[in-house]
Amino acid sequence: MGFAAISSPMNTAQTPVIAIRNLHKAYGNLEVLKGVDITAPAGHVVSLIGSSGSGKSTLLRCANLLEDSQQGDIIFDGEPVKWKGTGLNRRPADHAQMIRIRTNLSMVFQQFNLWAHMTILQNVMEAPLTVLKRDRAEVEDAARRYLDKVGIGDKADAYPAMLSGGQQQRAAIARALCMEPKALLFDEPTSALDPELEQEVVRVIQALAEEGRTMLIVTHDMRMAADVSDHVVFLHQGVIEEQGAPGDLFTNPQTDRLRGFLSATL
Ligand code: ADP
Ligand code: MG
Repeated sequence: MGFAAISSPMNTAQTPVIAIRNLHKAYGNLEVLKGVDITAPAGHVVSLIGSSGSGKSTLLRCANLLEDSQQGDIIFDGEPVKWKGTGLNRRPADHAQMIRIRTNLSMVFQQFNLWAHMTILQNVMEAPLTVLKRDRAEVEDAARRYLDKVGIGDKADAYPAMLSGGQQQRAAIARALCMEPKALLFDEPTSALDPELEQEVVRVIQALAEEGRTMLIVTHDMRMAADVSDHVVFLHQGVIEEQGAPGDLFTNPQTDRLRGFLSATL
């Protein structure tokens, strides 16, 4: 008794993959994030919901250091980002750390962003080869495995334009997975898709959640958020207005703002 629980990494107090503390971000005079805290423990799915313009995409981009922030901490896998400068001049101080964090928090965008002149296989292999300098044969092996996993193994030699939106988005997910990241960040992964194609992407995200991937998902799809999330965060004008388990948040919202948002969305 007890031994399994003690030795199992799932049962120990784990270091979160991503912890964001009191994050502030402005574009010039426009304050977009006003002291946001988010924690994504290993194996958890955190969804971020809120109206257009509330700062969701900005938060994701700050988390993987695609965007600078002016105040607060970003802690990746227990490792606080080192900064130089302050306020609008604050930047990551350690380039190697920045690359390590960015490559470990792979992003999937609304618009897929596949390279049109490369085949699907080449798209998936590109960053592991050029950024991580991994062995080509191993990368190709992994890339084919991830394409199979998202259900488009037969599209390896096709070009993006030959694929449906849902297939392109699944290719983008395979590309993110091929970086072997610690967490996946999704920015509205289904918003650009026709409703009938949305579900094939939702199913892939569900499967990733079931295998215990750590994910931070910005979505307008409340059904997906309810299905896949351990925790849901409602952002309003750069402030977390309400958060909780999806079963509580969606069925029993506490604030008028969330009630209003949900009734406008559902
Ligand atoms: P969301 O993803 O929730 O729709 P965003 O994070 O994209 O919100 O945007 C939050 C606010 O920041 C909006 O007012 C938007 O116009 C502004 N914004 C986003 N990106 C930039 C940018 N690069 N420069 C200036 N303002 C921006
Ligand atoms: Mg956005």
